[in-house]
Amino acid sequence: MITLDGKIALVTGSTRGIGHTIAETLARAGAKVVISSRNADDCRRVADAFSQKGYDVIGIAADVSDPDAAQNLIKDIIAQWGELHIVVNNAGITRDNLIMRMKPADWDAVMAVNLKSVFNVSQAVIRPMLKARGGRMINITSVVGQMGNAGQTNYAASKAGIIGFTKSLAREVASRNITVNAIAPGYIATEMTEDLTDDAKQRLMDQIPMGRIGETADVANLVAFLASDLAGYITGQVYNVDGGLVMQG
Ligand code: NAP
Repeated sequence: MITLDGKIALVTGSTRGIGHTIAETLARAGAKVVISSRNADDCRRVADAFSQKGYDVIGIAADVSDPDAAQNLIKDIIAQWGELHIVVNNAGITRDNLIMRMKPADWDAVMAVNLKSVFNVSQAVIRPMLKARGGRMINITSVVGQMGNAGQTNYAASKAGIIGFTKSLAREVASRNITVNAIAPGYIATEMTEDLTDDAKQRLMDQIPMGRIGETADVANLVAFLASDLAGYITGQVYNVDGGLVMQG
């Protein structure tokens, strides 16, 4: 049984989708959880709803693509709760287009939200974790960072970047009992994927050995495990949650 009693967790991008389920799963396992996204109303609404279910949560809005906002977010959490043990870098966006049509602004936005945010939040939290001689970082990448996907050069580059970042930081902080791992979801049912045409969905499904799209809980359950004491000897790894879409040798 996974328990996170006494742990404090931040989940970026947790007002909807995968992050929302991760936040609820960690809270259900006993962690105090910080709900965060750019939208203050959403953060408050989600935090209120979770509080009504009896979970110990607070909502703090922050655009984690901005280094100062990420620093302030971590400062606010430490000011309110004194510690931060678990960070899930989940916030992410897509701005898809073929490279011929991709605007430089779409490249920059995706790199800033998906990749630079991971640096921003990790840098802000590393000092308190080093001081505490322990911590868990879990970065949400994507199978697209491993396989590539036409129309997603920006997204794929940002997600591949997260993998290199994860392995490098894992090596930097391993001796201090801080683990850094990544999860690569396949096709998960959320607002991010619901815009795909039926044709595109079917083509994706045809490639998934398990023949179904994933649920947000499929990702959240692995986050809870990696965040727990059960996973203390695991670092620098990338775990696929994709129904068998990517099988690496
Ligand atoms: P989603 O439903 O679109 O949710 C994204 C969350 O991130 C929202 O809470 C959003 O809130 C927040 N966010 C966006 N930009 C932000 C910023 N600059 N600062 C702080 N928060 C920000 O997406 P999802 O499908 O759950 O995806 C979650 C993560 O999983 C992403 O990293 C995505 O790339 C990855 N992923 C998803 C799939 C999939 O099939 N769904 C597959 C592989 C990987 P606001 O917009 O209000 O800020």
